[in-house]
Amino acid sequence: MNDCIFCRIIRHEIPAEILFEDDHVISILDINPIHYGHSLVIPKRHCKDFLELPPECYGSVLTAAHRVTRALVNGLRLDGYNLFTNNGRIAGQSVFHFHLHVTPRYANDNIRFVLELKKYAAGELERTAELLRAELQKD
Ligand code: AMP
Ligand code: ZN
Repeated sequence: MNDCIFCRIIRHEIPAEILFEDDHVISILDINPIHYGHSLVIPKRHCKDFLELPPECYGSVLTAAHRVTRALVNGLRLDGYNLFTNNGRIAGQSVFHFHLHVTPRYANDNIRFVLELKKYAAGELERTAELLRAELQKD
């Protein structure tokens, strides 16, 4: 038994607003939403982040995310939505059990992900792609 908060919700040891669950996935309302309806899609198998997610879970997580997103869009009449996942403390992860956020968006909701976009210096775009292609060849 681990004391991971999401594992405890999955075991029904602590309360959560469960939207649905099956053998592989649970979806709950986030208690600190960006907008009402902000939902989390969580594989039942404990893994700390995306890279630890077992390949056999990919399908169930994405299928569940699709269902939850459709329910949000239709049920709450969203103008748009964000799907995202934070991985690693530096990236904003606070619960170290992999999960996808599905967040409602509305026109003029003033939510901004503040990003300072970079420009590649000459040759860097190609060099970066080359490095990543070489890494991918190792699979
Ligand atoms: P992250 O910061 O990306 O790891 O996301 C973790 C999310 O889990 C945050 O948005 C929290 O508000 C949410 N959260 C933490 N504890 C609970 C809980 N007991 N029930 C529902 N959501 C939770
Ligand atoms: Zn867990």
